[in-house]
Amino acid sequence: MATSGYTDTRLLINGEWSDAKSGKTLDVINPATGQPIGRVAHAGIPDLDRALEAAQKGFEAWRKIPANERATTMRKAASLVRERAADIARLMTQEQGKPFAEARVEVLAAADIIEWFADEGRRVYGRIVPSRNLSAQQLVIKEPIGPVAAFTPWNFPVNQIVRKLSAALASGCSFLVKAPEETPASPAALLQAFVEAGVPAGTVGLVFGDPAEISGYLIPHPVIRKVTFTGSTPVGKQLAALAGAHMKRATMELGGHAPVIVAEDADVALAVKASGGAKFRNAGQVCISPTRFLVHNSIREEFVQALVKHAESLKVGDGLAEGTTLGPLANSRRLAAMGKVLDNARSTGATVATGGERVGSEGNFFAPTVLTNVSLEADVFNNEPFGPVAAVRGFDTLEEAIGEANRLPYGLAGYAFTKSFRNVHLLSQQMEVGMLWINQPATPSPEMPFGGVKDSGYGSEGGPEAMEAYLVTKAVSVMAA
Ligand code: NAD
Repeated sequence: MATSGYTDTRLLINGEWSDAKSGKTLDVINPATGQPIGRVAHAGIPDLDRALEAAQKGFEAWRKIPANERATTMRKAASLVRERAADIARLMTQEQGKPFAEARVEVLAAADIIEWFADEGRRVYGRIVPSRNLSAQQLVIKEPIGPVAAFTPWNFPVNQIVRKLSAALASGCSFLVKAPEETPASPAALLQAFVEAGVPAGTVGLVFGDPAEISGYLIPHPVIRKVTFTGSTPVGKQLAALAGAHMKRATMELGGHAPVIVAEDADVALAVKASGGAKFRNAGQVCISPTRFLVHNSIREEFVQALVKHAESLKVGDGLAEGTTLGPLANSRRLAAMGKVLDNARSTGATVATGGERVGSEGNFFAPTVLTNVSLEADVFNNEPFGPVAAVRGFDTLEEAIGEANRLPYGLAGYAFTKSFRNVHLLSQQMEVGMLWINQPATPSPEMPFGGVKDSGYGSEGGPEAMEAYLVTKAVSVMAA
């Protein structure tokens, strides 16, 4: 399929789009064809220095704008994003692979997130605390923490940025993001909406380059006051350590390995529809993707047959082609990773109920896959597969299933299907996750907290908690003079 309006991406520094000082660029590849479709500028240290200077200047300008006016500007940006949803989604599908309909939903959700945080920014209240000395008045004031350095991955090129960006701007911070080199154009279109909406120069900045070089330079830099990262747990631990060494506040949204517990009394059709839909969305490259399916032995056969039917009903293809419901994996690393996951599953005794192999020889297509009889030692039951693979095991008691769900160091999302109040109670109390969805697919929304526990990270990217991450508290006591 011919590329459709795909453009090269430059750096956004001080409100202007520019090439890297060195002129260096990287290829952007369409994962459906394996062919280059454009180029992205590769920032070096001189570009980062300019971006940091602009972020400081942008912070000083943006924080002085009253919250209600900041909200108006953010709402303008949201409207532009909404108007341009189809165009931005087309860029995203070409660089990331997901079906156009999924990309469009992601962009429309971004507009919703910007609006929600715009309004939340108007409600950053402090407190007046009764003083022990009646001549003094005690105030608790919330202030923006300062320029933010964000690092975001390629699986949701717009969504991963917009949650951080919206909360940061609503709090009065400036925001410099190193977005994914593999999917640069849709993030650029998102930030362009803020430039056009009229944020002061430097309030938002966008760079690409060598991820380790950029994080290694930005995190310790004195201009940066807050670090926020979404990506894998090993990288998150490195960046959190660096942030800690430089006393920078950090939010870490890391990998998961979401258990799906299907209890004896579950509505099996609902469980398959909800968890199967969530499993294969974005070809499984989702941090909250259901990955470990734990199904009561009395309904396991029925569940597997229905899940296989669901997987086989998906239409694999180019995300821009009519009717595609499963696009390619976003990069060739994922394709290689899926090969290894399947080799390991087979060698540890799993049965491939459907899928299990690459589709075609061009692009990164991998068949929707269901594995059964999966051993607890299998790689797929221990490390996040981050691909279109559902691994199923049986269980006999709910306590056993919860034990398995909590066995891994991850604790991001969990899912459960049951009609019993006792089960719901037990699951709500005992699942070690940051988000639990019962009898439904994942329904993240701007107003609900989004984040994990244990090795899945810390901090939240939704709800009022997300604003706290970008605020500092000042206690002021004023004595009558
Ligand atoms: P990776 O671990 O190398 O990179 C993950 C992300 O972190 C990428 O966006 C990358 O640019 C960034 N990154 C890597 N090293 C960095 C550094 N030193 N400083 C700043 N950013 C850095 O692996 P990958 O091949 O891109 O993705 C593979 C794994 O990453 C997946 O298996 C999955 O576990 C995880 N991942 C998680 C999410 C998520 O939403 N939590 C998103 C994408 C990838």
